[in-house]
Amino acid sequence: MKNTFIILCILFHLSVWVPIFFLLSGTQHSTTHKTIICTTTILADTVRAIAGTEWSVQYLMGPGVDPHTYHAKESDIHRLTRADIIFYHGLHLEGKIAHVFEHMNEYVPSIGVCNTLDRAQLYSCSINNIYDPHVWHDVHLWKQVVHFIAQKLSSYDTDNAKLYQERCILYIKQLDELDSYITKCIKQLNSSQRTLITAHDAFEYFGKRYGMKVIGIQGISTQTEPGTKDIQEVVTHIVKYKTKAIFVESSTSARNIQAVQEAAHAHGHTVNIGPELYTDSLGLPGSNADTYITMMKHNIDSIVHSLST
Ligand SMILES: [Zn+2]
Repeated sequence: MKNTFIILCILFHLSVWVPIFFLLSGTQHSTTHKTIICTTTILADTVRAIAGTEWSVQYLMGPGVDPHTYHAKESDIHRLTRADIIFYHGLHLEGKIAHVFEHMNEYVPSIGVCNTLDRAQLYSCSINNIYDPHVWHDVHLWKQVVHFIAQKLSSYDTDNAKLYQERCILYIKQLDELDSYITKCIKQLNSSQRTLITAHDAFEYFGKRYGMKVIGIQGISTQTEPGTKDIQEVVTHIVKYKTKAIFVESSTSARNIQAVQEAAHAHGHTVNIGPELYTDSLGLPGSNADTYITMMKHNIDSIVHSLST
């Protein structure tokens, strides 16, 4: 009842402020400076690869921000109303602000890039009948999103459609090389080393595509906390299989991973905490993970190095 009240308040807030922001901004759909706002840094980098300098591509959630728990600020609503196109992931990744995009679509085209993926390809979570939104960890699946973005941009800006299609072909070629690189790296691990233990369950698509067993302590969203039983099961696995490393994530608290490490130690097994993996956000600009491609390379290099040595 309380949640319903809060949602109604937010919707009322949006219905009042969005039209006002539109009246105040006035020239938001200027044809000389077109703006795309994406939710995450991962999506912004992907869109930028196709949009090039024809658009100003921006993001709402910066490096290290957790999209599952992100709440829209009033300044975000203002920025969104001034955009020409909004791209978000969908599949409940932006769990706290999904309703904002549904409402915003009345004013600005708001596109959930993963919502049109064939459900047969998606990993379905038994809780609440929802699909795992972390599709970018499977490069092959993310390529479909790239094609979709190119198609959408081509339809909104027909004058440059040929340009977007050419960029799409070039970028897909780079993603094919990335996909092959990850497949080759995984082969350095023997079957007993192919278990990836992380703070939350962001790597199911990665595991399915590249052949790794994946254990996430916190489930597919960071909105729920793991129970003692969840942590104990992970510890039992680590001690039984003498796992060499477990991983913290850039946009998730390291607390649960540290608790698992301490519990494994108490059971007589020392497990290392590997380099930070990037799951729901890119690294800071200038880091070795500030694009989708370098982020994926950082992750696989870190995983293989930590689990094989
Ligand atoms: Zn996540």
